[in-house]
Formats: sequence, structure tokens, C-alpha cells
Amino acid sequence: MKSKIWLSSPHMSGREIEFVKEAFDANWVAPLGPNVDGFERDLCDYTGAKNAAALSSGTAAIHLAMILSDVGPGDFVICQSFTFSATANPIVYQGATPVFVDSEPETWNMDPALLEEAILKIRQRADKQGEIKTIVPVHLYGMPAKMNEILAIGERHGIPVIEDAAEALGSKYTGRPAGTFGKFSALSFNGNKIITTSGGGALLSDDEEMIRKARFLSTQARDNAPHYQHSHIGYNYRMSNIVAGIGRGQIQVLDERVKRRREINQWYRELLKDMPGVSFQTAPSDKHFSNHWLTAIVIDPETAGTDRETLRLALAEENIEARPLWKPMHLQPVFEKAPRFVNGVSESLFDNGLCLPSGSNLTDEELARIESVLTSLLPGSIEKR
Ligand SMILES: *Cc1c(COP(=O)(O)O)cnc(C)c1O
Repeated sequence: MKSKIWLSSPHMSGREIEFVKEAFDANWVAPLGPNVDGFERDLCDYTGAKNAAALSSGTAAIHLAMILSDVGPGDFVICQSFTFSATANPIVYQGATPVFVDSEPETWNMDPALLEEAILKIRQRADKQGEIKTIVPVHLYGMPAKMNEILAIGERHGIPVIEDAAEALGSKYTGRPAGTFGKFSALSFNGNKIITTSGGGALLSDDEEMIRKARFLSTQARDNAPHYQHSHIGYNYRMSNIVAGIGRGQIQVLDERVKRRREINQWYRELLKDMPGVSFQTAPSDKHFSNHWLTAIVIDPETAGTDRETLRLALAEENIEARPLWKPMHLQPVFEKAPRFVNGVSESLFDNGLCLPSGSNLTDEELARIESVLTSLLPGSIEKR
């Protein structure tokens, strides 16, 4: 069996171990310590966010953002449907109702026109106890959503935005780093993300008081007393000092990782450029700068001479991981009853889209293996060569 080629695997620089070793040497093996403080500073320096709380996961960051946005039973949260379930689950943790909004075809992210329609319709039908508390757009596969439009709609209707930037660290929109657009922004350092701490996340905000509260809630909400005393329900969501050490090493090479992911995206584009029926998730203008965390293509079965599943299985046969685009939340059995505002865009992307191996540590030999499968199935790509 040939060695496995992953969609996106951890890519260590070697510097991580020094920070981890420092933590061991000082016996800072706890969910606090100098690496946690240092990593939070690094995240602020990198993104320009004013405050950061390092947490155990991106999901925890989104959950705390929901709590701090006062999302509760009976409330509504408007959420991009085309995303990973971790964007939507915390809405339900809070007893609120997710309202799923479909994507526009350019960036594949939240459609501003449908967002506005959702706000107007939900406000008409919401009973007295229910309010739309927040809007959650996502930068899928690193491609920034149309944030100017989304933020303007939020502002016009008095609804703050939680930005799910879990896949988009290193991306920019209008020159401004992803992670700085929301009242709250969430990052993830899960094993498959552009940089990883093995597992982890962060909540960013310009509101210092809110980040202070996030740190408080994430460490069991302990009141200031010599004994354990609590006036709030707390969570065990803080990042550990060991894990933060990995993050400190990783963030030093983040720009290199972005550069390499973008090169790989470009490599796929060159390889498939004359292939009829294959298109890429593509920035609609230079306002959108994607880290290209994952290269995502869409295969039109009418013109490509093959289809997504055939291609995926041919790659799998060679022990190469590729994955269909994320299944929209409004099509998930668990969200069957959730209100939705859909236009068919994410459903069609899900039917025909494929994420290709995109790791910054892919070797030339691995790329050659991927190339040979793609060119054997997609005849147009051979002719060009
Ligand atoms: C990975 C991811 C998350 C969750 O992050 P975890 O750190 O895995 O909890 C949330 N949203 C999106 C879009 C993601 O891709």
C-alpha cells in the first residue's frame, strides 16, 4: 500500500518543541502560563486584534462568543449553512434556534441578500421572547466572505456579527486580516488547520472586557475568594500552556504556510486549467485574499467526462484523501427542523465539489502521485501537457 496522502496534515517547524520544553523545564503544565500569554500576544500581533483568549478549541471560542452575545432559549442566530457543524452546534448548546442562510456563488459564503431577507422574515414571525442575537458568517476554505455587505446589514438592523475565521487565519479582506471583522471572531488550531496546536482555538475581540469575561468563563468562572466560589456557570475551555507552546512555534511560520498553500492552489490551477467542466473556488476580486487552506474544485459531470465521486474514489484507490465539500447544515438530519433561507448554491456545491490535498508539507513526489490520478481521469489536463 502506498503511503497515505492527507487532505491537510500538521506541519511542524521544529521551533514548537523549544517552547514546549521551556514549559516542562519551568513545570508550567497547566491551563495558564507564559506560553498562553505569549500566544495570545502573538495572535494579536499577527491579526491586529486588540485582545485574544487562547482556548481549548474553535468550538469553545464560538460557544463563548454566543454566551457573551447573550444568546439564550427562544433566540435566533443567523448562521451560514455552508460550513462545518462546529459553527452551528453552539447555537443549540445555548437553547437558541439556528436560522440557516445559503451562500452566494462567488465566494461560496453567506449571501448578503438572503441574509437580509432572513432578518426581515424572522422578525415578522418571531414571538415576543425571541430575538435575532447574532449573525455568523464563515470564510470557507479560507476564502473571505463579503464582509462589507454582511457587516453593513448587521449594523442596519442592530445585530452584531460573530466571525467564524476557523479556516481563515492568514486570509485578508480589503487588506485587513480575517479574525478582526466580528464583534467576536473565532480561530481554530485543530490538527488539520493551517497552523495547529494539536487541538485549540482562540476568541478575538476589540472589546477588552468581553475577552476578560471569556477568560473567566473558560476557567470555571471562579469568583475572587480563597475557597471555590461561583456566581456563574463556568466552562473548562482554557488552552493549556503546553499546547500554547506549540502555537507559539507555529505562528512564527504562518506566513510561510500561507505562501505554500497558495502555491499548491496555483499548481492545481495550472494542472487543470484546460480541463472543461472543472472550476475552482476563486476570489471574485482582489479585495478577497484567501490563505487557500484547502483547494476546492467543482466538477460539472455534464462536461468533465467524469464526476466528483469517480474522482474521489480514484484518488482513494491510490491512498490519497480527498473529501466532498462540507455538507450544508440545512441538509443535515440533526438540523432538519431549523428555519432556512436557501437558493440551491451550497447544495449544488456539495453535490459536485471536492477538496483536494492541500497541506503545506506535500512533497513533489506526493504531488506527482496526485497529478497522475487527476490527469488519468480528466483528459483535458493531459492534452495540455
Ligand atoms: C474547524 C472549524 C471549527 C471548529 O474548530 P475546532 O477547533 O475543531 O473546535 C469551526 N468552524 C469551522 C468553519 C471549522 O472549520
